Amino acid sequence: METPQTTPNSQIGYLKKENEQLKKEIELLKESSTDQQVSIEEKNQWIKTLYNELEKKNKELEKLDKLKSDFVASVSHGLRTPLAVTLEGLSIVLDSIPGPINEKQKNILLTARQNLEQLNQVIGDLLDISQIEAGQLDLRLGFVNVIKLFQNFINSYQPIAISKDIKLSIQISQDSLYLYIDRDKIIKVIKNLLDNALKFTKKGGSIHVAMHMRKNDVLFTFTDTGIGIAKEDMPRLFNKFQQLARLEGVGLQGSGLGLTISKAVIELHGGEIWAESQLGKGTSFYFTLPTYDTVKATFENQFDSILKGALFIGKPVSFILLYLNSFGSQPTGNDETIVMHTMNTMISILNNIASHPEDKVFIYNMNSIYVILPETNKMDSMRLIGRIKDAIKRRKFVFEKKEIKTDFKYGLAVFPLDANDRAGLIKVAQENITRRKDILLVDDDNQIIQYFEGMLTKMGFGVRSAYDGEQCLKLVEQHPPDLIILDIIMPQMNGFEVYGRLQRNPKTTYIPVVMLTEHDVDLKDAELIGLDVSSVMHKQDGFDKLLGIVKSFL
Ligand code: ADP
Repeated sequence: METPQTTPNSQIGYLKKENEQLKKEIELLKESSTDQQVSIEEKNQWIKTLYNELEKKNKELEKLDKLKSDFVASVSHGLRTPLAVTLEGLSIVLDSIPGPINEKQKNILLTARQNLEQLNQVIGDLLDISQIEAGQLDLRLGFVNVIKLFQNFINSYQPIAISKDIKLSIQISQDSLYLYIDRDKIIKVIKNLLDNALKFTKKGGSIHVAMHMRKNDVLFTFTDTGIGIAKEDMPRLFNKFQQLARLEGVGLQGSGLGLTISKAVIELHGGEIWAESQLGKGTSFYFTLPTYDTVKATFENQFDSILKGALFIGKPVSFILLYLNSFGSQPTGNDETIVMHTMNTMISILNNIASHPEDKVFIYNMNSIYVILPETNKMDSMRLIGRIKDAIKRRKFVFEKKEIKTDFKYGLAVFPLDANDRAGLIKVAQENITRRKDILLVDDDNQIIQYFEGMLTKMGFGVRSAYDGEQCLKLVEQHPPDLIILDIIMPQMNGFEVYGRLQRNPKTTYIPVVMLTEHDVDLKDAELIGLDVSSVMHKQDGFDKLLGIVKSFL
């Protein structure tokens, strides 16, 4: 069967029709199986051919659908930048920065800007939809004081409501409530519902918004006295590109995507969204968002099932506990807002680093963040902690325009090496934060040992020393240290050989090793055996350099 060479959309329509036809033919064939004229084999063969055809067409459909989504996403991206530049240019002229403009010019430009803003909104919606359909809409979760957010946002709509002669009222029963949500995406949902209420309510009407705490979630309500929605239209209200029958004169053109996006966002948060309406009387939209405790319980369940799954496939799971110890020299105290803000900043850093789709990052309580890394061993998690520490150093934590110094502590526990359930892992990671870290120093040069041992002990580390490879392996076996500082040139067994043996032993492979060298040529050898060169240092570089490397691991 030939498909006509037209646009992806009309091809999709054509293929869908063809598929329907094929399905009907298959059904007809099945029904006529009593027909004695045609042999069973012949019929089976025929059905098989039709099924193959159907499968082929389905694959083509999927390909075209993806093509369409990619096309929408790339065109929308391509439109975004020039549109932003044009909007910026218009705003500059409207602000009379290049020179004065008259009233007539101003009105023309204002209309142009309004239309471009509408276009920008539609493009944003199309991008969101293509992400939702590709299953790529990610939430950037953090603590948000929803009362403040809700109140401020609704108040910002008062001027538009007044200009339309619509009474906008708000009812909230609490002062402060923190939910664990994606702030920007929830704002978009609230904006969509308010915009719609204002669009479809006539002059003199009213809009009432409310927020109610319930046992496991919070209920948000938006009630208007607008045009309402016909009963037969309700089932497709949240479908894509739905713009239902409207009364003349009320409502502006939109994309018909707002409610589809809102539904996806709310459901991704674990909430629900629905509507009730009476044609000609008005509409109520409702959505729920789970309380923090509900989200926490879901996270705990996920944690448990990740461990169960890992046990089943025999893979490790790393658990990192980040604890906000203090702000520089100041204790974190009770200033909720700064703590929440710092934790949210930290979460965004972590989301960029622990970016595997299976990784989970969660603010567990005011001062702790839990990071779960499936299929990640101890060594890789230690490297990841090093990257987190680097990222924190580079990132400024700013609150109300003032820089704040943060002091995060790190604890690590690996399943099943350190513990075999959630509570056990948390306990080990907590102990890991507070206990003294144990370093094993290996060098045949007594002076080096004495110097580094003294300095490291002063820094609060527990230090044991070995004078050759043999002794090092013995001490590791007695009690594995948190880190080994290993000289490369030693008599009998050299540093590379010791490293190789530690690597081959599953019980010691995770222990981070810092190599000490006196020659550049050793660096090349280090690379050859797959050693991370950032953990190889020249003895001449001194103690501060060593301490820097040690701290990136411990
Ligand atoms: P848009 O508003 O961009 O058309 P939405 O997905 O937000 O797209 O809404 C889809 C349709 O649902 C609207 O076009 C309108 O027909 C109907 N609708 C939404 N909210 C209301 C409301 N408050 N009152 C009446 N109709 C509404």
